[in-house]
Amino acid sequence: MSQTSANQPTTENLTEATQPSSSPSMFTGKIDQIHSQYVKFWAHESAPGDVAGYRNAVQSHVYTPPPGKQWIKASTPFTEFKGEPLAESGDGKLLLIGNRESFDEEQYPNDRKKAGMSMVHLMVIPKERLFNGLSLFSAPHGIDDIDIIDSMISMFREAWEDRTVREKVVAHQKKAIDDRHKDRTDLDEVARGKVLLRCEELKQELERLVLKEDALKFEDFAFGLHLWPENSVGHLHMHVIATPTEFRKYSTKLHEAKTKDAYEVKEYLESLRSQAVAGHQNA
Ligand SMILES: [Zn+2]
Repeated sequence: MSQTSANQPTTENLTEATQPSSSPSMFTGKIDQIHSQYVKFWAHESAPGDVAGYRNAVQSHVYTPPPGKQWIKASTPFTEFKGEPLAESGDGKLLLIGNRESFDEEQYPNDRKKAGMSMVHLMVIPKERLFNGLSLFSAPHGIDDIDIIDSMISMFREAWEDRTVREKVVAHQKKAIDDRHKDRTDLDEVARGKVLLRCEELKQELERLVLKEDALKFEDFAFGLHLWPENSVGHLHMHVIATPTEFRKYSTKLHEAKTKDAYEVKEYLESLRSQAVAGHQNA
């Protein structure tokens, strides 16, 4: 794909800020990385066709991944999601779903990064077949889905106000702790008993912290995107992370570096939109 200079994204008018970790802005300050990942993604020849193939569910479409990198696939675990969502947006377009894994790193001694990033680690996914944060905007290809980022955040804001949703979140996470415990084949009988005790304590702490009135407000959450090629699933999903330290003390920190702040991704994509509009007006 070739781009004219008018479409060439720049980072000039965007500033980088460093923030303390475990704050709602813990994933910010990565505009340069967002920019370089964006340029690399759209530089791949088959990107526009593959984005469209996924979006339109074109059965006959053949995807062309870059060598050695994961790429757009015809179907993912989030495509036509079959699980039980924790909440659904009023217009039926977005789902709030839970992380399948436990938030406790200790339950994954051999693969700590499998654990969740917080006691409350949720995801918002669109039913629409959108690939990734990077594929939400391309002026040359007439793609502009930037506004879905705001919709996903608003959807969560509304869902979180509902106590029954918060209760479902707690129940989902308790089950994740139990499921992981059942899967452990690396423990002998004694170790299993000790771990089980810890699991019970974690579940109690989870319930106490999350369901305490006003313990966790919308303002306590960070919203993260894993941009290609660092995404684990090839379907847009926004990670929703409770950031206060007490909610993250058992969780993995291993994904923080690659997680981009959803507001910052939106800001970057909007800067491309502004440049495209300005370029069009100057032409
Ligand atoms: Zn992800």
